[in-house]
Amino acid sequence: MAAVDTAVEAPKTKNPHAHNRFATIRRPDPVARETKIEAKDVSVIYGTKEAVHGVSIDIPAQAVTAFIGPSGCGKSTFLRCFNRMNDTIPGCRVLGQLNMDGEDLNDHALDVVLLRARVGMVFQKPNPFPKSIYENIVYGPRIHGLASKKADLDEIVERSLARAGLWNEVKDRLHEPGTGLSGGQQQRLCIARAIAVSPEVILMDEPCSALDPIATGTVEELIHELKQNYTIIIVTHSMSQAQRVSDRTAYFHLGDLVEEGPTKTIFEDPQEPRTKDYISGVFG
Ligand code: ADP
Ligand code: MG
Repeated sequence: MAAVDTAVEAPKTKNPHAHNRFATIRRPDPVARETKIEAKDVSVIYGTKEAVHGVSIDIPAQAVTAFIGPSGCGKSTFLRCFNRMNDTIPGCRVLGQLNMDGEDLNDHALDVVLLRARVGMVFQKPNPFPKSIYENIVYGPRIHGLASKKADLDEIVERSLARAGLWNEVKDRLHEPGTGLSGGQQQRLCIARAIAVSPEVILMDEPCSALDPIATGTVEELIHELKQNYTIIIVTHSMSQAQRVSDRTAYFHLGDLVEEGPTKTIFEDPQEPRTKDYISGVFG
């Protein structure tokens, strides 16, 4: 892992759009944390429309970072930069520098399939494959060649489901369809599927927005446990969720990163009027 003070090379991809239109207010962390991913002057452009404007942020390792802000401010777009998911959108260009443990994530030579195993993603709507619970979990480890023997796959299935807090609920029906589970169980299955390939980072884009409050609570507890082993970035429209689950919060507005810092500081003492307005409920 790159230490916080690691020197950074000049961006290889020169970003002519490197203009966060306002200087981001960056609030120091009382806890010293290692940086897992460093974004520098990242802009994202759809065709001719720039949706993210020169965002720079350090994502700490083994902690939860929340991205908040009004709908359409670029949270999902920016999140997709971390595992090159914007590559799949025609006409979408990402400029600037993203380093994970010092490695350039935008390097053309990087194997994106491998990257997406290292930086897993959980979406808004649970999206288990139309296969059994067991097959949902072993799919990734099989294609990445992590295991092929049944005993090894069985072990991965049990470990991943246990980590996702789902093992006891599904151990007697591993060969039934994943889509037959409740919404909250399906989302935990998707988290288990992400964990099965031993990722370093888990991206979550509004992972609870399709869940009821009880299932949301279970997933939030899970996020809290997972941060011991993984770096987590969560997009949430729920300010109470951001406060419950995250260590750091980044507030986005119209494609700019306005302010970021320790979650408590952002919510209790926001510096920017736009952050204050949003947090006090004037926006969105
Ligand atoms: P958020 O997740 O904060 O709601 P998004 O990242 O989805 O915001 O969107 C940011 C901006 O980019 C919006 O103006 C949205 O319309 C635009 N956008 C998002 N996805 C696409 C796309 N695939 N093609 C074109 N524009 C897009
Ligand atoms: Mg979004």
